[in-house]
Parts: sequence; C-alpha cells; structure tokens
Amino acid sequence: MENGSSTKKWGFRGNSGLSTAADITVRGVLYMLLSKLNQSDTRHVIPLGHGDPSAFPCFRTDQAAEEAISDSIRSAKFNGYSPTVGILPARKAVAEYLSEDLPTKLSPDDVFLTVGCSQAIQTILTVLADSKANILLPKPGFPYYEAVAQSCHLEVRHFDLVPENNWEVDLDAVEALADENTAAIVIINPGNPCGNVYTRQHLQKVAETAKKLGILVISDEVYDHLAFGENPFVPMGVFGSITPVVTLGSISKRWIVPGWRLGWLVINDSNGILKEHGIIDCITGYLNISCDPPTFIQGAVPDILGKTKKDFFTKIVGLIKECANTCYEGINDVPGVICPSKPEGSMFVMVKLDMSVFEDIKDDLDFCVKLAQEESVIILPGIAVGLKNWLRVTFAIEPSALEEGIKRLKAFCERHSKKA
Ligand SMILES: *Cc1c(COP(=O)(O)O)cnc(C)c1O
Repeated sequence: MENGSSTKKWGFRGNSGLSTAADITVRGVLYMLLSKLNQSDTRHVIPLGHGDPSAFPCFRTDQAAEEAISDSIRSAKFNGYSPTVGILPARKAVAEYLSEDLPTKLSPDDVFLTVGCSQAIQTILTVLADSKANILLPKPGFPYYEAVAQSCHLEVRHFDLVPENNWEVDLDAVEALADENTAAIVIINPGNPCGNVYTRQHLQKVAETAKKLGILVISDEVYDHLAFGENPFVPMGVFGSITPVVTLGSISKRWIVPGWRLGWLVINDSNGILKEHGIIDCITGYLNISCDPPTFIQGAVPDILGKTKKDFFTKIVGLIKECANTCYEGINDVPGVICPSKPEGSMFVMVKLDMSVFEDIKDDLDFCVKLAQEESVIILPGIAVGLKNWLRVTFAIEPSALEEGIKRLKAFCERHSKKA
C-alpha cells in the first residue's frame, strides 16, 4: 500500500489563473503590510493605503440612505430572489440618475445591477474573454483588473498614463498596442490611483481612438462626481455614439458605503453595436450564473439615489478637497517625496520617491514595509499599481489623522535621508 499523497495521481489541479491573483490585488499587498506592524507601538495606525473612509464619523453616509435601507427591509417587499439583472425600480432609478449627465436618456434595459463595481468588472472582462482576445489596461491602474483578467485567461496589454500630461492616456501607445484581437480599453475617471479628472476633450479623443481601432471603452466611474479641481466630471457615456461605452459604477465611493455592495454595469451604445454582436446576451448569460446584490439593497436604490440631499455631497466633496490640499502641501514638504500634480478627484494621489535622497531604502516596497514597522503608517507601494518607486497615498481619512500621518512620514524620511 502506498501512503503519502506524493505518488498518488489526483484528478484535480487549481485554476492556474488564480494562484497568483491574490498577490497582485491591493488587498493582498495591504494585508502583507499590516502583518509588518510593530505590535508594541502604542500609537494609532494611520491608514493611508486603502480607499474606505467609512470608519471615520465625519465620512458617515447620508441619513436618507440609511433610512432607505431600513424602509426597504421593513416593507417586507424585498425578501425574495431578484431577477438576475436586478429589479426594475432599481434599474430605472440608476438609468435616471446617470441620464442627468448624458445627452440621450438611458433605458432601464441598459442597466445591469451588480455586487459592487467589482462584479461589474468581473462581468465585462469575463464576457470579453474569448480565447484570443486581449484588453488594454492603464499603468498605473487598479490591479483588480489584472487579477480578474488573469483568472479568466484574458490577455492584458498596458498603456501608460503620462504624469507630465496630468495622467492622460498615451493614445499613440494605445494605437501601437492594439491588434485585431483587442476587445476594449479601460479608463478610470476620476482616476484611481492618480487623483486626476479627464477633460471632455481628452475623453472624446479616447472614444475616437477606440472607434478607429474597433474596440469598446470600459469606463470605470466608481468615483463619479468626486471631482474638486478645475475639470468637472464628464461621464464617458456622453461619447456612446462614437464608440460603444460600458460604464461601471457603484454607490460605494460617492455614498461611502462600500460594504453595501451595490453597483452597476451600464450600456451607452446609441448605435446598438454591442447588442448586434451578442455582447448583451453574454452579459445576461454571465449574470444568470453569478450572484445578485441582496434584494433589499436593490429595493432601497430608488430612495438612496433619489432622496440623498445635495448638502451631503457638497459636504463630502468639500472635506475630501480639504484633505487633498493638506496632503499635497504636506507631502511637498517631505524630503525625497515629490507630488507631480495636485489631486483633483477620487481619494488618491501618486507621489514619486527620489531614491537618491535615502540612505538605507532599497525601493518603494522596502519604504512601505519600514514605514509600517517604524511609524505605524500604511501606504501602498507604487509597484502594486504598476509604478516602481512611487507611492499611492489615500487622503480621504479624518483630517487630524491625515496630518498625523504626514508628520510621521516626514519624520521617517528625515531619519532615512543621507546625512550631508
Ligand atoms: C473601489 C473601486 C472599485 C470597486 O468598487 P466596489 O463598488 O467596492 O466593488 C472598482 N474600481 C475602482 C477604480 C475602485 O477604486
């Protein structure tokens, strides 16, 4: 009799697309950094790594949204299964909400409800993952796209976002990368990780380039309306008559309720190209075999979108803007860290490390590990979003915690600088 499993031939093997997917997500890197914290440091941990300010009282969601949820539960109307594409009143509410900023009105049929924006990403990438297909992703970007593409064996090609041009897409690079198997280009606007907001003109150029290449634009607008600089937020769907646009979004960031897991995938395609090519059927097919957002959350959507007061958004955007300024000014006062452009949207900014300043720091990852160990400050190394020797800093946290975090960052950088 054999004992031990090494010689036995088992019939299972893990999906090769999944084994490394965990390492390349933001969460994977942040868990690693949290494990490096010095347990004997009695100071509070300052979380400048992830974009979830919901824990801070000043970022609590609007009361109207909380009431919408409790009303939905108490109505007892939303205890059953929902249709896989979402319940009609919620799809209608999302269509109306997004149509406010569009030249043509969306229909509820253009809207598919998902478990956060994350499932909207999974859905569209899986739908496009034909055997030879490839997809164009931004660098730096949001590594969840890479992880999902890998899990469904969809080839990824990266184009650069150019810091000198306020992180605009390098459109020449996009044209050079695309071939007959390219299905789509992804943009994230307002930008994570760069904190930029694209101009209308640039978005139009992206749409025209996509049309020339015969590809669709996937526009991740999970930070819609979180814009506080010169450029107003313009949805990519405005250009849905130039090339098909699939807009992804959720209530996670604008309402600061990422735990509610309610998002959407929306078709902006006035020429009906996606329908003609079977893409809509594939989206429905995928949603038929995946999980839906809880029905009572869907039941609350019309009130969440319809009854949240303008004051709430004004207050939150004002607070985030104030944090962005504190962060920008504070960081420019830290030796060895350079902030090329002032953040104008989302909750993040990319800052560059000048490695020549430091005495004993190898690279961005080493920087972040030591910063966690010595100062109990968590910052995401740029390598996690595709840029070595940069950092991604989240500024959407309680203002006094942000100031404390920047103070510790400064002390850390001064301590590790080469002595003159
Ligand atoms: C947070 C985030 C998501 C995921 O949003 P959820 O609604 O929490 O699933 C998707 N894209 C980007 C760029 C994000 O920052």
